[in-house]
Amino acid sequence: MDNLRLWHKFLQTIKSEISPVNFKAYFLKTLLKSTLEDKIILSVPSAFILETLNRDYKKLTEDIFERIVGKKVMVEFNVKEFENPESKEEDFFQPVQTQTSYLNPKYTLENFVVGPTNNLAYAAAQAVAQNPGTSYNPLFVYGGTGVGKTHLMLGIGNAILSKHPGFKITFSSSEGFTNDYVSALQTKLFGIFRKRYRGVDVLLIDDIQFFSGREGTQEEFFHTFNELSSKNSQIVITSDRPPYEIAKLEDRLKSRFQGGLMVDMQIPDFDTRVAILKTKCAQQNNILEEGCLNLIAASVETNARDLEGKLTQILQSLKHKSLEPTVENVRALLGKKEEAKLISLSPKQVITQVCEYFNIKQTDLTGPRRVKEFVLPRHLVMHILSEQLNLTVEKIGEILGGRDHTTVMHGRDKIKKLIATDRETQKILIEVRQNLSTITY
Ligand code: ADP
Ligand code: MG
Repeated sequence: MDNLRLWHKFLQTIKSEISPVNFKAYFLKTLLKSTLEDKIILSVPSAFILETLNRDYKKLTEDIFERIVGKKVMVEFNVKEFENPESKEEDFFQPVQTQTSYLNPKYTLENFVVGPTNNLAYAAAQAVAQNPGTSYNPLFVYGGTGVGKTHLMLGIGNAILSKHPGFKITFSSSEGFTNDYVSALQTKLFGIFRKRYRGVDVLLIDDIQFFSGREGTQEEFFHTFNELSSKNSQIVITSDRPPYEIAKLEDRLKSRFQGGLMVDMQIPDFDTRVAILKTKCAQQNNILEEGCLNLIAASVETNARDLEGKLTQILQSLKHKSLEPTVENVRALLGKKEEAKLISLSPKQVITQVCEYFNIKQTDLTGPRRVKEFVLPRHLVMHILSEQLNLTVEKIGEILGGRDHTTVMHGRDKIKKLIATDRETQKILIEVRQNLSTITY
């Protein structure tokens, strides 16, 4: 068992044996630093935590490791080396509400499935993991929701950590960075903040698009960025869109982000989806035959997160109903797709939901005005009424204020085309369908 897996197993076990509050306070920011023959060294974020761990949790920690590895082990807690003396007091009182997340060892480059829609991003991640700070800096990964950006980013972090256990790595969402910065401003304690974001070898910032419009944060991040890159510390950034499409982002940041390597990730194709399902099954010790995986992969075309959700849902249904995991049973469970449910809706319900979603009036939707705010919802309704409710284009035209059937065909096909290429439309359609499927129950 490698260290990452060992640590992950340990966390899973101890999580179920102590209170969530204590787990979070004492173990979430603790890391497995090294394993010697019968000694395990854990690195902890502060002297305060060290004291508590030694006093209250040493025995339990040793017991759990013993259960996992099957032999007696000694556990030693150490405070992380980058802890410098003048910051101890700050850490002790923990004045800054830190939003920095823990580097979840579950997401690795090894269990990231590579396919044609993510292979460039993966190759870049490998290069960065092997030579942090020197190959591509920053690495800027962008793509729609659920395509694997956060997984890849954590994979980079975990790979670097296992190769260089002493490296200081900070992983944070852009909101985390913002919140930490605001807390630092309020408490006037910049020591911890600067140490966390500037005193590192690797900085991983997730979902940077949320920097949009936040001037103070952007200014601080600009300086953070410059300091890190001048030290050749690796910076990895993810975003749901490329820098030039992020509104209200300073030009100097855009140009910094574009100065390294930008790679995009897209929705996984069918074969990759099957492979992802295989990996997820294996991780949870579940076995589903290829035929079942193919069915599930074919039923979810949106993204890897939805795919995983569907897998979990099918596995749970099989379990609850005590069904064998056969192709027939999986097919039957999948048969109850949202499409099948949506057909029972009335056109009125669809129109109401879509208007609600876009916050427009029904008379705007059925009326003659061709402004952008009304046209997309109108086309969307045409698409749903045609594809999901199987209404004729003539009927749809009639419902939508007496429009010609060719107009309806045009609107329906427009959405069809957009879904294939445009992330925003994909997202809207998924959300609207979700809203609709909740009223069919
Ligand atoms: P994003 O950050 O792009 O929204 P995530 O990284 O959170 O997406 O991925 C969503 C889920 O899908 C995660 O559980 C992740 O492990 C899984 N996933 C996405 N892409 C892959 C992949 N290529 N291989 C394995 N798992 C993946
Ligand atoms: Mg993410």
